[in-house]
Amino acid sequence: MPKGIFTVPVPVNEPVRAYAPGSAERESLLKQYDIMYNSTIDVPMYIGNKKVTTSNKKSITPPHDHQHVIGSFSYGDKTHVQDAVDAALAAKEGWENLGWEHRASIFLKAAELLAGPFRDRMNAATMLAQSKNVMQAEIDAACEFIDFLRFNVQFMVDIYAKQPQSAPGIWNRLEYRPLEGFVFAISPFNFTSIAGNLPASAAMMGNTVIWKPSDTQVYSAKVIMDLFKEAGMPDGVINMITVDGPDAGEVIFNHRDFAGLHFTGSTGVFQNLWKTIGNNIHKYRTYPRIVGETGGKDFIVAHKSSHAAQVATAITRGSFEFQGQKCSASSRAYVPSNIWEDVKTAIVNDVKSFKMGSPADTSNYINAVIDERAFDKIASYIDFIKEQEDAEIIAGGTYDKSKGYFIEPTVVVTTNPKFRTLCEEIFGPVMTIYVYDENEFEATLELVDSTSDYALTGAIFSQDIYAAELATKKLKNAAGNFYVNDKPTGAVVGQQPFGGARGSGTNDKAGSELNLIRWTSPRMIKETFVTPTDYRYEWLG
Ligand code: NAD
Repeated sequence: MPKGIFTVPVPVNEPVRAYAPGSAERESLLKQYDIMYNSTIDVPMYIGNKKVTTSNKKSITPPHDHQHVIGSFSYGDKTHVQDAVDAALAAKEGWENLGWEHRASIFLKAAELLAGPFRDRMNAATMLAQSKNVMQAEIDAACEFIDFLRFNVQFMVDIYAKQPQSAPGIWNRLEYRPLEGFVFAISPFNFTSIAGNLPASAAMMGNTVIWKPSDTQVYSAKVIMDLFKEAGMPDGVINMITVDGPDAGEVIFNHRDFAGLHFTGSTGVFQNLWKTIGNNIHKYRTYPRIVGETGGKDFIVAHKSSHAAQVATAITRGSFEFQGQKCSASSRAYVPSNIWEDVKTAIVNDVKSFKMGSPADTSNYINAVIDERAFDKIASYIDFIKEQEDAEIIAGGTYDKSKGYFIEPTVVVTTNPKFRTLCEEIFGPVMTIYVYDENEFEATLELVDSTSDYALTGAIFSQDIYAAELATKKLKNAAGNFYVNDKPTGAVVGQQPFGGARGSGTNDKAGSELNLIRWTSPRMIKETFVTPTDYRYEWLG
């Protein structure tokens, strides 16, 4: 236990590298990409002190070049899930009794390793296997992940420092215990930083974890495990398994020591997991913590006073960066009639200027969508739109999966305020726009609020401060992260804690102490200095 009230290094956001043409950092990253592209890896599971491989291998291929194999990973079964649970429980006592400053130092070390020697590998893995361009990889796999690691250490000590008052003669102390059991982290494909943060945030608070990454994020998941190991993470604290989701669920959600779920992914999957946990509630030692950040149908609303160029740029960046596969990506916009022609011209010109292809060619703004399933789903939405009378595609609308899963960024205009693609999450580069009568702003805000089940991100564009204020009030439950005159993507750890409500999740705000506190079970300790020895109070008699 520490002998000192330590402070931790003040966290600062990791500066984003520019990767300008001719720069050494760009050359180094692209060289690393080439090395990885031209070799193969075999990703094991990490269970306790073992790297476990199986004969059930799945290939890893770049989404933008799906015939080119860059490695494989071992698929496990329920026995591996059970082994991971056993390993997590075996590591628990040592980890939770370690002084917090030593726990903190592992994550701070991981942050520095990622900012330095691991940076190119993590970014290149994310470019290669998740099809992110240089900048999308840098802001996710390097900067956001580093920020999670650094800021969460500060948030952890901020939590520990929160103590109750003590009255004369007594001392009240709050101890932030880890949960009694293990935590199950399930991560999505789209952010390397989220994949790393889901297990790391629970582990930081003294828990041991079983982590199941997405099958399409396994390449960078391996680099994450290598990073944690290099930083000194003890065996068994984070156990990474690559198994079928339901197989993992069957073992874990029936286990008495299951104590928490840290999930990010789609709403439907999360709701099913919650149901399973609810049905099994009598089997657990404690009530499990359930944290889930899920889907979105994120909006941009423009007021008649807004600048067309700003609205158009927010749409082309906010909807199409990383092929619209950010939970925060705008996928519906409400544009007033007075600026529509200018917005339309700007968007169509922007989309025409986009280049699409491999992230290895840095002139490509757009890369591939993650896999064939996603490609087919997005393509079927585009086919559906083409058949409708009340919608028109004004840009994009083509797709081709012969070499990679490429979908042209697509902009749809509809006259139906409840058009299907204004309501449902597509999770691809498809933006649907509804043009409203410029004098119907307030009614349009009500429409925005009531059109979708989600409430993740949203933005208002307005030069008129009264209109901006009205939108902020009327849309108070429509988004967990709300932006004024900015696109709704790109939340930064320590600056804009992230998460949505309604169908978008439990809103426990990743990258803040609100999230970390969920991985603790506080114990109140009251100590009395002069303990009574007679039951009779003064008032008696
Ligand atoms: P997904 O729901 O398909 O998969 C997420 C994870 O759940 C994967 O690891 C998957 O293997 C696992 N899984 C699926 N079925 C399971 C089951 N029955 N039991 C256990 N695990 C199971 O999501 P995805 O396609 O990887 O990611 C995209 C989704 O994530 C979108 O809906 C997006 O909006 C959401 N997302 C939300 C946030 C946020 O912060 N709100 C951030 C990123 C992504």
